[in-house]
Amino acid sequence: MKLKCAWCEREGRPANVGEVEPMDNRSETHGSCQEHRQEGMMRTTLAVLMLMLAPATLAAQTNTTGTLSPNTSVTPPPAASTTATPAPREAAIIVCAPEFSTGAGRLLVSSASTSAGGPTVAPGAPCAQALSDLFVAGFGVIDVLPVNQQVQYTLVR
Ligand SMILES: [Zn+2]
Repeated sequence: MKLKCAWCEREGRPANVGEVEPMDNRSETHGSCQEHRQEGMMRTTLAVLMLMLAPATLAAQTNTTGTLSPNTSVTPPPAASTTATPAPREAAIIVCAPEFSTGAGRLLVSSASTSAGGPTVAPGAPCAQALSDLFVAGFGVIDVLPVNQQVQYTLVR
């Protein structure tokens, strides 16, 4: 059977991934190519991460009001704060892959995913630049994971 990537097909890209059993059946079946499988995995990781972060944020807020200002009902905003609304925690995942076309090996962003409100990271940007942009934006790395000769960074702020 011909295996086609459903996501590539939707994007209008060449969708043939390969042949799968049974070989004598010429009809088509749908799956996902390696690229889209990785993208799906990244989205799942991000979703799980947001679920993990949500209760932590709630707990932190409860603790702050309970311990830091026990005698006053109004908490003055911190001096450095620019907006009154408390920022929810955000997560970003960027995957960097080594690139050798220029002769010198360097890490480029191969895919990136950030939660709503986070900065967008363009694929193809130098990995170090993307990371430092995220650091400047207040993100910190909580996990680094090697995935198929690539490096996946998980950041939160
Ligand atoms: Zn695909």
